[in-house]
Amino acid sequence: MKFFAYILEDVEKLDLVEIDKEPKEGEILVKVKAALTCGTDTKMYKRGHPQFPFPSLFGHEASGVVAEKGKGIGFLKEGDEVLFPVSSPCLKCEFCLKGLENQCENLFEEKVWGGFAEYILIPKRIVKNSTFRKPKNITFEEGALLDPLSSVVFSQNIIKDLNLKVLIIGAGPMGFLQAVYSKYKGYDVTICDINEERLKIYEDLNIKTIFAQEGWEKNYNPFDFIIECSGTRGGFESSLKLIGKGGKICLFAGFPKNFYIQIDGSKLHYNQNLIYGSFHYDRKAVLEAYNLISEVKLNLKKIFSGYYPLRELPFVMEKVLKGEGLKFVITP
Ligand SMILES: [Zn+2]
Ligand SMILES: [Zn+2]
Repeated sequence: MKFFAYILEDVEKLDLVEIDKEPKEGEILVKVKAALTCGTDTKMYKRGHPQFPFPSLFGHEASGVVAEKGKGIGFLKEGDEVLFPVSSPCLKCEFCLKGLENQCENLFEEKVWGGFAEYILIPKRIVKNSTFRKPKNITFEEGALLDPLSSVVFSQNIIKDLNLKVLIIGAGPMGFLQAVYSKYKGYDVTICDINEERLKIYEDLNIKTIFAQEGWEKNYNPFDFIIECSGTRGGFESSLKLIGKGGKICLFAGFPKNFYIQIDGSKLHYNQNLIYGSFHYDRKAVLEAYNLISEVKLNLKKIFSGYYPLRELPFVMEKVLKGEGLKFVITP
C-alpha cells in the first residue's frame, strides 16, 4: 500500500514522503490513529541516534486499526483496533535464555518504527508476542502509551517493599508515568523538577511537588525509593543525598557515555542501598502495562498536551524542543 510517512533525513530535517509497504508473512499494516512524541524521538531529532541512522522513519509510540495483514495471521482481522510495543525479544539469544529479555541481543532487529505516518508496519515477532486488541473504553492515545508505560512497569518490578515514600526526580513525560504508577501502587509520591511550570499538572493528581532550587535537598527527610528521570548529574547527586536506610535508587533516565560520579561506599554498605539501572522492558512488563491501560487503572489523561494533524509535526517538534508540554498527540 502507498501512504505518506515522515522521514527524518538529517538533524532537524523532516520530510513527509510517499512510501510503499506491503505486510509479508506474519506482519500487519496498521492505519495509525494516534502517535505520540517521546524523548527518544527528540534526542534522535536533535542529534541522531546510533540505533536508527538517517534517513529513518520517525516516531514509535502509536496505535491504530489493522488495515492489511500478511499470510499466517489467524487471531487478527482487518478493522481490529490494536496496541503494540516497539520491540519484542528473540527468545533465542544468550540473554533471552537467562530471562533478561530487555537485554536481548536482537531486540531491535525487528521494530515498530515510523509512527508519524498514515500507516505503520508491525513486524512478525511483535505481532506474535505482544500485539493486543484495544479495549473500546480507552482512547487510541492512551493505547499508544503501551511502550513507555511498559518501561515504567519494568523499572519497578524489582521493588517488593511496601508503604514506600517515593521521590521522582524530573517531571517530564516519563516522570509523569512513574508518578501515576507509583500512586496507583499506594506509595506516598513526591515529584520534583527545576521547571516550576511543569509541576502544576501534578497538583490535581494528589502528588506532592518540589520546586528544586539550589540546596533544596536539606529541607527534606530521606526517601525509600528514588526514581531518577532527569538524566542529569544534579538529579543523580540529589538521589544519593536523599536516599534513606534500605532505600533503592532507580536510574531510569539514560546518561551519556563515560559518565562518572562519586559514591560514598560506606553509606551504601551500612544503609544497605541499592542503585540500579533500568532499560526498556520484557514481555511480562508489556502485559502488565496493557492490563493497567485497559482496566483504566491510571490517571493518564493529563499527559496529553495537545492534538495536531500529521502535517503539523515539524511545528510540534519545535514545541517539544522548547520543553513545552508532556506528550503531543499526532492524529493522521
Ligand atoms: Zn518512547
Ligand atoms: Zn534475545
